Amino acid sequence: MGLEQYKGDMEMCCRCSTCKFIPMQRVSGHDFVNVCPSISRFNFHSYSGGGRLNIGAAMLRDGFQYTDRLLDIVYNCQMCGACGVSCNYAMDMEVLEPIQEFRIRCVADGKTHPALDKAIAGLRAHGSMVPPTGKRGDWAIGLGLKDATREKVDVLYHAGCLTSYDPSLQKLARATAKILQKAGVNFGIAGDAEICCGGRAYQMGYQEDFLRQARENMALIKQAGIKTVVTACAEGYQAFKVLYDKFKLRGDLEVLHISEFVDRLIQEGRLKPRKKVGLSVTYHDPCRLGRLGEPWVHWEGKKVPGDRFVFDPPKTYRRGTHGVYDPPRNVLKSLPGVTLTEMTRIKEYAWCCGAGGGVSESNPEFAQWTARERIREAESTGAEALVTACSWCEKAFDEAIRETGSALKVYDIVELVEAAIS
Ligand code: SF4
Ligand code: SF4
Repeated sequence: MGLEQYKGDMEMCCRCSTCKFIPMQRVSGHDFVNVCPSISRFNFHSYSGGGRLNIGAAMLRDGFQYTDRLLDIVYNCQMCGACGVSCNYAMDMEVLEPIQEFRIRCVADGKTHPALDKAIAGLRAHGSMVPPTGKRGDWAIGLGLKDATREKVDVLYHAGCLTSYDPSLQKLARATAKILQKAGVNFGIAGDAEICCGGRAYQMGYQEDFLRQARENMALIKQAGIKTVVTACAEGYQAFKVLYDKFKLRGDLEVLHISEFVDRLIQEGRLKPRKKVGLSVTYHDPCRLGRLGEPWVHWEGKKVPGDRFVFDPPKTYRRGTHGVYDPPRNVLKSLPGVTLTEMTRIKEYAWCCGAGGGVSESNPEFAQWTARERIREAESTGAEALVTACSWCEKAFDEAIRETGSALKVYDIVELVEAAIS
């Protein structure tokens, strides 16, 4: 069915432009009201969520004619889903799903981006979205972790591609492992046998590559008898929890982000953050932990034809309000000496870090511009540090800070938890 199944949604777009901003009813000031990096950067309606739907509807009606400009619009989008959340404040229609299907259609028609092709070639060759810098499990050397593919464990910690291979981010994997060790969790890793979750391939439009990764991951998990997967990467969280479920591959596997797990461990008294951290922070909601981490809602029924389609039974729309928002905030508030000041665009209205949708590969300049905009917002809170919960965000913010010379510090939440428990 692909894009065709969203014909009615795309035709419903009334070009109101709500998808470009925080909904009017929620706006609290004049700055930081934009939610869509693409329209904010390129300032032409086609680059908005609504604009992309208008193009999709026109293509279905008049036939697919690819131009360089059209592909520029398609690939300069972080697939961050902010457009859909703002649209769905008032409207019942899918926004991100048709944008996603449009990309999948472009890839199927061979209209790909060379930088994304290169990333996918690496995935096919090495099972990773970033070039290997050694063996995948090297980050764990000396930590004495269990091999979940050989030993019985309750929890599998999936480190993810960037955290496993990027020498500047391997500290996040080590911090996560130390937190789980400290809490006495019976966990293991897949080490060199770990492969990419496939989530970024899906965002880039390479659905078959995503499905291959998902099936291989679920086969490993089933064979090892794993019941719970924990990840500290928002990309991995969305893939395992939401996308695998969307394609009915997840079964009853429990998927937790490390912030959810740590929140639970603190509440159960299994983890006691006692050491003073002493830092004023603001928190960035990663798109794929927040609005796009909202559970998938399966709908089955009839689409009743008419002037406007009707779903029977009524369809429940995902509005981004059920993402993982409280657990990371609970954790930050439980760390001695940490004070949290919120930015304007938070939770389902959070501004993307810029790295999503393959933009960090296809248009690094646009990705960095997007990250700089978030740094500017974080600085406006007066906090000393910007805390995130995803290695892709940390990398994007680190690069933006190097470029701007900002005095803001950037941490992943696991770094602060590690500091408070060690
Ligand atoms: S996608 Fe939604 S919010 Fe955007 S222009 Fe269309 S109807 Fe309005
Ligand atoms: S997914 Fe994000 S970048 Fe793409 S159109 Fe929607 S809000 Fe803009």
